[in-house]
Order: sequence, then C-alpha cells, then structure tokens
Amino acid sequence: MLPGVHDFVKRLAMIVILQRQVRVDLRVTQWANQFGKVPVVAWFLGEVPVDQYTGWLCVALRQLALASTAVLARLAVPRRHGDYSCLDSLGHRPGTGNEVRTESPVSNLLSLLKLAPTQDDGSTIDFMRTSMTAADANAERSARARLSLDGLSIGDGFGQRFFIPWTVESATSANLPEAPWHYTDDTEMAMAIVQVLERYGEIEQNALAQTFANRYLAEPGRGYGAGAHELLRQIADGADWRLVSRELFGGQGSFGNGGAMRVGPLGAWFADDVKATIENALRSSEITHAHIEGQAGAIAVALAAGWAWRWNQSDRSERPEQMLEWIAELLPESEVAASVAQVSDIPLDAWAFDVAREFGCGDQVSAQDTVAYCLWMSAAHLTDYCGAMWTAARVGGDVDTTCAIIGSIVAMSVGNDTIPAEWQRHRESLNW
Ligand SMILES: [Mg+2]
Repeated sequence: MLPGVHDFVKRLAMIVILQRQVRVDLRVTQWANQFGKVPVVAWFLGEVPVDQYTGWLCVALRQLALASTAVLARLAVPRRHGDYSCLDSLGHRPGTGNEVRTESPVSNLLSLLKLAPTQDDGSTIDFMRTSMTAADANAERSARARLSLDGLSIGDGFGQRFFIPWTVESATSANLPEAPWHYTDDTEMAMAIVQVLERYGEIEQNALAQTFANRYLAEPGRGYGAGAHELLRQIADGADWRLVSRELFGGQGSFGNGGAMRVGPLGAWFADDVKATIENALRSSEITHAHIEGQAGAIAVALAAGWAWRWNQSDRSERPEQMLEWIAELLPESEVAASVAQVSDIPLDAWAFDVAREFGCGDQVSAQDTVAYCLWMSAAHLTDYCGAMWTAARVGGDVDTTCAIIGSIVAMSVGNDTIPAEWQRHRESLNW
C-alpha cells in the first residue's frame, strides 16, 4: 500500500478517536454517514497486515462500523432504550455527573441490590457443594474459568472477522472464516482476570489494574476503546485507577460494555457462590467502569456464566428463560436491570434481529445496549455454541464483544469438547 494511504488512514483514525473521546456520538454518526468512506477504509484494512497500524485502524473501523450500524438501527425501528434519562431508575440523568458515586466500595453497590446476596437467591438449581480442599476447589474453578475463556476468546476472534458490516452476508456455516482468528481486547482483559483469580483466588483490584495495564502495554493494538487507551496508559504511568476511572467521559465514568465483555470466566470461577460472583464482578468492573451501568452489565454476565454451568450440571429442567428472570432480580436498579427484565419476556424463538433492534447489539458500545441482547442470545442458544456465534455474527453490532460475551456463557452450558476443534485451532494461541 502507498505510504500516503497509510497516512490518510491514520489521520482518519485520529479524527474518529477525538470525536469519540468527547462523546459526540451523534456527530460521529453524521460525520461517518456523510463522509461515506466506510467501504473505502474497510478495503484499506484488507490491504494492511493485522499487526501493522492495528491500534489506529481497529479503533477507527470500530467507530465507523458502529456508527453506520447505529444509523441503520435507528432507521429500522425506534429503540425502546435510546433515552437514558427516562430509564435510569436510580433517578439520575446521565451526563449531569450526579450518578457518579464519590465512593465505590463493594458494600455500597451491594446495598442497592434488590436481594441481599447472603439470602436465598431463589434459583431452583442447587449449588455444587462439596467437601473438596481449597486447592482442589481452585483447580476446578480454574478449569471452569478457562473453559469460559475459550468460549469467550474463540467468539471474540470469530466475531472480529465479521466486524465490517457487509461481511455479514458471508456469515453462514459454509463460510467459516480463514485462520487465524485474532483475538481482541475482550480476550486480553479476560486473560488478566483469569491470571489474577488463579493467583489470588479472588479479584485483588490493584493487581488486576496493574495486570490490565501491563497487558495493554505489551499489546496496545488489540482494539481497545478510546477510553481504555486513556485509562490504561495512565494506570501504567502510576496513576490511581480509583481516580482515573471516575474522571473518564466528563466525570461520569464509563458505562461501556468493557466490564461485561471480559467477566464470563469470573462468573465461571465463582459458579458455586453467587455472593462471591456479585462482589468480584463488581470489583473487576469498577477498575475501568465507575458508572453503575457498566458495573451492572458485568454482574449480569458473570451471573449468567455461573447459571449456565449449574444448568449444565443439573438435570436441565429449569427453563432458559428463568436465567434472565433470575439475573434481573439480582441486579442493582439500573437500565441494564430493566432491559434484562424486559428481554426475559421475549420468546426465545423470536428473531434475533428483532431483539437486537429493540434492545441494541452493542452499536453504542454501552452496557445498556449490549448486555440484555447477549443474555437473551445465550438463553436462546444454551446448547448450541456455533449456532449462537453464527447468529450473533449475522446480527452484527459490536460483534467481537457480543460473540465474546455469548461465547463465555454458552461455553459453560455446553461444557467441554463441544466447541469444534477446527474453531479452537482457528483462534490464535493465547499469549499468557
Ligand atoms: Mg474487542
């Protein structure tokens, strides 16, 4: 490719990143739409090796593709949850800054939960109670977490291959993308969580923040969002994550889907302990997501991964819909909780495209427009990992992340050896 083309792509990326950082989403959408260069840039991507310019290109293409998806979604059907101000049941209006908690200890959010996690959680699936030693328990937890990580990372790499909207047309089982399937930030951050869990047995926040930062510095071109670039660089430079995460996005903190995208393995690790699932999911998310929506999204996905594993270990008599109802009851009051409650009313044989139009499929990169759809997709495909992936690819949106989240959950309900070996070989090796 000509050097001038590379310069053009990088300049284009910088404009998009700057737009995104000040969160003028509407302007980004209009700009991308009017500019009309999405096909051109995507064509460029095909000419550029993945390991070259990936930092800029991935962010630029992500924003462009998401913007175009958002335009199409808005043209198709009005979104039920498009107006944050009418749905924040905490009584806060995003953007005013009053939803930022000046403190964010776990106990504060736990106090908001509708059901104290020490009480009976209401699930009809018995938890696995054993007399294993701590070492045995951790070995089993680690195996579960790595199974979920496989589902997540294969989904991440698979979904990334369908990130460009018009490649969706080829998303049929007859067209398995060629190897290698490069994984993205979803997998990088999930691996950090697994590393910390295997070392400490729980989420030690400072260690996780440092692991996030170290892995980011090692491979910054894994498609991190603009906010993550900013935050992880500052943490790597020695800043306190508690301060930096609350300063993001004008002081309201991130409500992106990053807390949810990486947390499936954590839910798998703590699948035998709901209270620990909630506490540790919150701890894992608040390092980067000070906004309650980002945290609620993480709790929801972690609970789903644990539920899926227990369902697979049980007689499977519980209806998949009950997973959604159960999670909605456990979440803190939030837009995410409201969406999960509403999506639990959607029949699981409904058309996934309709669910995505109604609840979002990550085109805003927020927890609010990602998590409910992913949980519904997981419930609808509890026994079919590949079917879940192909459907999510065809629906589109933030497709590497939706496939990662769904994959991290469904891997737990389908169990070992059910993700095709070919798919496992196609994902690039995990760089531990
Ligand atoms: Mg990603």
